[in-house]
Amino acid sequence: DRKDHSLMTTPCSTGRISLVGIGPGSLDHMTPAARLAIVEADTVIGYATYIKLIEPLLDGKAVIRRAMTEEIERALEALDQARQGRRVALVCSGDAGVYGMAGPTYEVLFEAGWTPNSNIEVEVIPGASALNSCAARVGAPLTHDFCAISLSDLLTPWPVIARRLHAAAVADFVVALYNPKSGRRGEQIVHAQAIFLAHRDPQTPVAIVKSAYRAKQRVELATLADLAECEIGMSSTVLIGNSHTFVRDGLMVTPRGYADKYDVTSGEPREGERRGRSLSTGLVGWRAALREDTATPEVLAARFGLPEAYLRYVLSEPTSV
Ligand code: SAH
Repeated sequence: DRKDHSLMTTPCSTGRISLVGIGPGSLDHMTPAARLAIVEADTVIGYATYIKLIEPLLDGKAVIRRAMTEEIERALEALDQARQGRRVALVCSGDAGVYGMAGPTYEVLFEAGWTPNSNIEVEVIPGASALNSCAARVGAPLTHDFCAISLSDLLTPWPVIARRLHAAAVADFVVALYNPKSGRRGEQIVHAQAIFLAHRDPQTPVAIVKSAYRAKQRVELATLADLAECEIGMSSTVLIGNSHTFVRDGLMVTPRGYADKYDVTSGEPREGERRGRSLSTGLVGWRAALREDTATPEVLAARFGLPEAYLRYVLSEPTSV
C-alpha cells in the first residue's frame, strides 16, 4: 500500500510520470535524456504513430496506444499506473510542452489532488519541437523573432486564433503554423493566408514541411500568394517568413540584422554604429531623437505604430546614464 511504498528507498517505490518529447521522429534526433526516460519506463503511453516511431526502445514494456483525441484518457492512465508505483513515459512528438501532453497532464494531476510533494514524481523532458526541426530542414527561417500559432479550433475559438494571426502579421513575426490542416479542417489555412496577405507581400517566402525527419518527409518552398494551393496535411508545419525573409538556392533565411549594422565584406560597423553597442535606433538613440522631434506624442505614436501612452512615457522618462 501507499505507506509501505513511501518507506522503501528504491526509485521504484514511488511512481513516476515522465512527459517525454521524442523530437521530430527519428531516433537520432531524440535527446539522450528522452531515450533514458523511455528505456527506464515500465509503461509507455502515447499516440499510436509516436509509439511506432520509438518501437526499437519498447522491448519488454507495457505499451498503451491511444487515439488522437484521447489526451485526457492518456493522462488519467498515466496517473493510474504511477499510483501503482510504475514508471510511466508519456510520449509526445516534438516537445511535450508545445501543443502536447504536458499541460493536460498537470491539469489532470492537480484535479486529482496531486502536488509536487506527493509521492508521484513528474518531470517534463524537452525535445526539439516541430518548429525547430522544420526550420532546420529549410535553412534558417526563425533566426529573428517568431511565434507559433496552432490553427486547430478543436479547443480554441476561431476569433481567438484569427486575432493572434492578425497580431503576428501586424508585428512582422516569422510564424510557425502548427496543425495547419486536417481531413476535416481545410478552411483555416485559407483564412490564415487572407489575414497575412492584408499585411505582408504576396511574395513573402513560405515553407511547408511535412513529416520532418521521418520516412515521408517532404519540403516545399512557396510564396504567401500560393500557400492555399500547396499540399498541406496533419503532419505538416507551415513557416511564414517576415518582411526580411528571403530564399536563395533553395534555402529560406531570415536575417538577424548583421548586414544592416556591419559592412559584410569588411566586417566593420557602418557609420554611426558601434560594435557591441545598441543600434543608433536602439532605445537610447531613439529616445534622444524623439526628444529632438517637435511632433506631438499622438503623431509619433502613429509613426511608430505604438500606443500614445507609451510615447508619453518615453518622453517623460529621466534619461539613464
Ligand atoms: N508537440 C509537438 C506538436 C504537436 S501538434 C511538437 O512540439 O512538435 C501536431 C502538429 O505538430 C502537426 O499538425 C504538425 O503541424 C506539427 N508536427 C509535429 N511533428 C512534425 C514533423 N515531424 N514535421 C512537421 N510537422 C510536425
